[in-house]
Amino acid sequence: MPVQIVRNDITKMKCDAIVNAANPTLLGGGGVDGAIHEAAGKGLLEECRTLGGCKTGEAKLTGAYDLPCKYVIHTVGPVWRGGQNNEKELLKSCYINSLTTALEHGCETVAFPLISSGVYGYPKEQALRVAVDSITEFLTKHDMLVYIVVFDRSSFRISEKLFTAISSFIDDKYVDTNFKFRFSGRGEIGESAVLGETQILYPAAANLVQLRRPAKPTKTRSLEEALKQTDESFSEMLMRKIDEKGMTDAQCYKKANIDRKLFSKIRGDRLYKPSKQTAIAFAIALELPLEEAKDMLMKAGFALSHSSRFDIIIEYFITNGNYNTFEINEALFAFDQPLLGA
Ligand code: ADP
Repeated sequence: MPVQIVRNDITKMKCDAIVNAANPTLLGGGGVDGAIHEAAGKGLLEECRTLGGCKTGEAKLTGAYDLPCKYVIHTVGPVWRGGQNNEKELLKSCYINSLTTALEHGCETVAFPLISSGVYGYPKEQALRVAVDSITEFLTKHDMLVYIVVFDRSSFRISEKLFTAISSFIDDKYVDTNFKFRFSGRGEIGESAVLGETQILYPAAANLVQLRRPAKPTKTRSLEEALKQTDESFSEMLMRKIDEKGMTDAQCYKKANIDRKLFSKIRGDRLYKPSKQTAIAFAIALELPLEEAKDMLMKAGFALSHSSRFDIIIEYFITNGNYNTFEINEALFAFDQPLLGA
């Protein structure tokens, strides 16, 4: 997936380049800048001294010294002054200029911290949106794998209302399948939304039926016959749906945040089995209603289960006709679930 949001320490990222949220002197500072200089060693500061500083929104490249990447791209984010002082445009320039610099140096993988969202005070949620939008815009014209490295949980915050709605949806669905649970107390949004002590009470009659072995077919078919009757595959359904929606292939895989090479593989192999995340990403990109999304997942060998919070959250968004990957990821993050594309 071309843009991935990951939770990590950026100094640990094994990419072609990592981006530093530097200050205009480029002579080191606190936050992520301090962490990068510390991990890179003295050589980085020495090289930075030769650069003559950097203007807000611009980017300069150095070696990476002891870091596990090839380059460090230093960019200077805007200081937040209420949002009416060109902050958004400057922040976007940081991303675009850093990516352009990376491209000029042949980088294929780049990791960004959330620029300006620390000491410079840019509200994290807005900083993340600018990051995602700017990188996505850049990637419509260039092929690269870009990571946004989120360091702390407060970078994603969903509204109290959405949090409550999803919580009660999870509640209903868990009850549906005869699972009993209780919430642990929650402090900050996203901090303690943990379903504690899942306890299975009794299996529903329907589940018992499903547990029975299927009856043996009365007539054994030859393998060839069986293969002929195979249903439409995942790949075939995907191509059919893209046509039906009037999308181009590129529109679909870009919206799904899927790498072009992976898409070509799926298109070229009618029996290709994608990962569950990939199958879900396509179902979301195609804005399939729930039954069709489930059908598509089934063709890849998966189901949306009511005993998985991840699956229930996906179901919540599909049921509500909200196919915004970014918002889905915010919710997955708040409920401590793996992200789409992560
Ligand atoms: P700025 O001055 O641009 O605001 P900061 O370094 O203060 O830069 O913060 C930018 C973001 O980087 C913040 O969201 C902060 O939580 C995050 N951050 C700090 N240390 C690291 C690290 N080691 N890896 C990734 N992100 C980090």
